[in-house]
Amino acid sequence: MRACCAPHTPLFAPVGTQATVKALTPDQLEQLGAGLVLANAYHLYLRPGDQRVAELGGLHQFMQWPRPILTDSGGFQLFSLAEQRQVDQEGVTFRSHLDGSQHRITPERAIAIQENLGADIIMALDECPEPYDLEYNRLAMQRTHAWAERCVAAKQRQDQGLFGIVQGGVFPELRQQSAEFVAGLGTPGIAIGGLSVGETKSEMHSMLEVLDAALPGDRPRYLMGVGAPEDIVEAVMRGVDMFDSVLPTRLARNDAALTRSGRINVRTAALADDDRPLEPDCDCYTCTHFSRAYLRHLVVAREMLSATLLSIHNIRMLIRITTELREAIGEGTISSYADQFRAAFAEPVDLQ
Ligand SMILES: [Zn+2]
Repeated sequence: MRACCAPHTPLFAPVGTQATVKALTPDQLEQLGAGLVLANAYHLYLRPGDQRVAELGGLHQFMQWPRPILTDSGGFQLFSLAEQRQVDQEGVTFRSHLDGSQHRITPERAIAIQENLGADIIMALDECPEPYDLEYNRLAMQRTHAWAERCVAAKQRQDQGLFGIVQGGVFPELRQQSAEFVAGLGTPGIAIGGLSVGETKSEMHSMLEVLDAALPGDRPRYLMGVGAPEDIVEAVMRGVDMFDSVLPTRLARNDAALTRSGRINVRTAALADDDRPLEPDCDCYTCTHFSRAYLRHLVVAREMLSATLLSIHNIRMLIRITTELREAIGEGTISSYADQFRAAFAEPVDLQ
């Protein structure tokens, strides 16, 4: 990663699966304070093709995003989206979910694809299994470790930072082992995979506590695919620095707003005459201009602007929380910040 644009942490990265954060322009994202955007190597490899993106000047040029970009390796999508998937020690053979065509991704190929795409942070290929099968998680972890070593060896570009990924399901001994192995690779950041994939919140918290003790403190820790406000606060309390999630934009397209007192269903009739902003103290474009009543009107009338305005608010809300956490860490008030957040979040949503 170029030192000049290394983002401050804790940070929340909005997800631009297809090299676009849905319903938002790059300009709007910059105004929200987004320091990092995630794009998806699996999707961009299949369409429009990583070689084509390279020939068009790389992802920054292609999607017109001047700040840092992170690409995931495609591991998660290979194990959640791809069809007729076969995993072996060398890699993964699968059929495209788009047209059924056959493809093979190896650790070396995953790196080559991400070097073509040209993000600032790239990820090792990993296997993300369901979290409860001990023997399979051990096998997947060992495979993930072998693949991570091959990714480190295959990497050629000097202007990208490669992160290794910790796996191990809900098993403390596997998480401990994986943390030690991945830390030993010497990558400039360490990702935590295989959480928020069906385990309980308390299982996620206890795995993060194991990792907090086991991982080195000199490199950012990135909890992949987590972005609910309450999960971000609890994970920062357990030493995590970076987050990404489709949650804020997906909720926006499903007519829901994130607030500090919980989620608001913007479609509800209770908002029809509500002239307050979504959140009174929010500084986002949506909250400083529009009422809940107007947002509800857009949702009910099926207007596209609702997805844009709700995405602006939801992403800004998560970025503000990470900014506040950063300040609280600096001031030594992180515990009281978390207590206040938990107390407010538990309160019922007031729509009247
Ligand atoms: Zn707002």
